[in-house]
Amino acid sequence: MHHQKPGARAEYRLQESIRIKDSVSLAEKFQKLKSLTVNLEFFDSEGIHRSSQVKYTVNLANAKSVFSFGCPNHECVRGDFDLSKEIADAVTARRKSVVGEMTCQGWRNRTTIDTIRCHNILRFKFSLTY
Ligand SMILES: [Zn+2]
Repeated sequence: MHHQKPGARAEYRLQESIRIKDSVSLAEKFQKLKSLTVNLEFFDSEGIHRSSQVKYTVNLANAKSVFSFGCPNHECVRGDFDLSKEIADAVTARRKSVVGEMTCQGWRNRTTIDTIRCHNILRFKFSLTY
């Protein structure tokens, strides 16, 4: 039995959680934004098997403007879905709805670092009011 060190995955998660915690709220960053509803569907790298779906109205006062979601691949290293830019672009353009897709750029697991990317897929939909 050997003790597992935190490793690249845990280190990245910690860095990300600090980056998120230190960002301002969505309400503060986008003062014209009245409401935001997101629909997130997580798929495997083939885009066929959906691992989970979540739909909710974001609490703008509490949600952080680094709007990032963890990759559902529990072994993924340095991957996640950061939708901050997608939100910012949508608000800047006063879009009422946005549909898009993002591919996880992390590594599939710790043995494939620098060789095989995770490539899980997030399909997202935002509904916004101002
Ligand atoms: Zn991933």
